[in-house]
Amino acid sequence: QKRIGVLAVQGAFAEHINILNKLGVEAFEIRQKSDLYHGTMEGIILPGGESTVMGKLLRELEMFEDLKTAIEDGLPVLGTCAGLILLAKSISNDKSRYFGTMDIKVKRNAYGRQLGSFHTISEFKGIGDIPMTFIRAPYIEEVAKDQDVKILAEIDGHIVAARQRNMLVTSFHPELTSDYRVHQYFLEKVSSLSLL
Ligand code: GLN
Repeated sequence: QKRIGVLAVQGAFAEHINILNKLGVEAFEIRQKSDLYHGTMEGIILPGGESTVMGKLLRELEMFEDLKTAIEDGLPVLGTCAGLILLAKSISNDKSRYFGTMDIKVKRNAYGRQLGSFHTISEFKGIGDIPMTFIRAPYIEEVAKDQDVKILAEIDGHIVAARQRNMLVTSFHPELTSDYRVHQYFLEKVSSLSLL
């Protein structure tokens, strides 16, 4: 059976595991380095949470380099919210950089305090209108023009979903709604799993 790992050092990982299970996929928590090597891993989800905390824990738990290499080598990855920040090549309002595997520039906490959290329905290319829940979310300010980054969703001129090869990212939290189509998109298009 196909297996998808969900980074579970911090943040909203349980909801992702729930959805994967509902879609008939085996999901497992990645809490420590050995979890990466317990069985096959056909894809990984980097959940929402706090990117600074996740970045620090990934290094402390000595998972950072192995995961970065796996993603560079083509491991399918879905990064939501903080997960998107972990994948970005640059962060416009922060000196930190984490995996830096995706050719996008992101702004952290981009909606400020007032508009920190909101919900809307908007178009996701290839899917249609989907519910989008934002919680102190980043957005993508820029995608590298000469690279193969595809913009999948925009709200008020800001990019909130994109894909580059094996990497799919959303500013919003698809795991917090009962619409599973972003996860299905990840499984079908990005990690090319066949879902029964
Ligand atoms: N503000 C968080 C960060 O900068 C992201 C918020 C989230 O994942 N819900 O990492």
